[in-house]
Amino acid sequence: MSGKPKLAVYWASSCGGCEIAVVNLNEKVLDVDANFDFMFCPCLLDTKYKDIEALSDKDILITLFNGAIRTAENEEIAHLLRKKSQILIAFGSCSSEGCIPGLANLHTREDILNTVYLDNPSIDNPAHIIPQTETDVPEGKLYIPAFYSKVKTLSQVADVDYFIPGCPPEPHQIWNVVSAVVEILKTGSPLPAKGSILGAGKSSVCDECERKKADKKIKNFYRTYEIIPDTEKCLLEQGIICMGIATRDGCGALCPKVNMPCTGCYGPPEGVLDQGAKMVAALGSIIDIGDVKGLSEDEINKKIDSVMDSIPDFAGTFYKYSLPGSILKGRI
Ligand code: SF4
Repeated sequence: MSGKPKLAVYWASSCGGCEIAVVNLNEKVLDVDANFDFMFCPCLLDTKYKDIEALSDKDILITLFNGAIRTAENEEIAHLLRKKSQILIAFGSCSSEGCIPGLANLHTREDILNTVYLDNPSIDNPAHIIPQTETDVPEGKLYIPAFYSKVKTLSQVADVDYFIPGCPPEPHQIWNVVSAVVEILKTGSPLPAKGSILGAGKSSVCDECERKKADKKIKNFYRTYEIIPDTEKCLLEQGIICMGIATRDGCGALCPKVNMPCTGCYGPPEGVLDQGAKMVAALGSIIDIGDVKGLSEDEINKKIDSVMDSIPDFAGTFYKYSLPGSILKGRI
């Protein structure tokens, strides 16, 4: 027993990038260790679920919960950590909004299992076996967690105190949050309002992007491999879908800085309910279909369609990180 406040990091349905972001704190990890008893992190430490169950309620000061809720295990541990933590933080895009795992909400559970276990060129499964939650084996019964029909965000299954956005969150922003909590512990000053988004700004990536912006008018969209963009001009003005306008600032506009468009991982800016809807609305005001004088409604629609057809994947472009947390939630 160290006497230091307990810190837990948990991953549910995610890729592990949020843990990498924690490791990328580099030498500041030592400061985390100096201030916290880092006692639960399944990819780094061998603490068992039963050890967490044995804690008294609220014994953990902060839990950084990354990953979406895809399985019964994800949800069970979300409830357990909620009970055992004073502060539960949805850490990263998957737990905040569903992120890439959430794009599975465009398909049914059956379609996903079929694709993964049956109808796939790299699969050899002649007995057509699909995992079941309970399986009898000579040694007894095997149990695996149920695979839900939909991906949910953490706040859709548990009471969340704060959100740290990003895929993954930027290490300097993680440090800002951790050091702010340390300061609050020392001074006794009040915590941020419940539900606050921490480690990010309130405005948009465009506001922290240094590229030159002019009047946006777009005749055609391009994928990043189709053109070599001007390194100084706004990427969206060059026809590359850049989600900066519909994305919360705080990352330092890292992607546009290296000639890649923002794909939206910090979620919507303050006051925006639905990131995809915000982006579609913004595009609606800057698409240039040329002179429409004398054209019928049908002809105008065809011109709009031909510009929109140059966007290859609407859901994956506008809701890449936010589908389960959006108004749509999915297609099923
Ligand atoms: Fe920068 Fe992208 Fe915004 Fe243009 S749209 S200003 S490139 S973040």
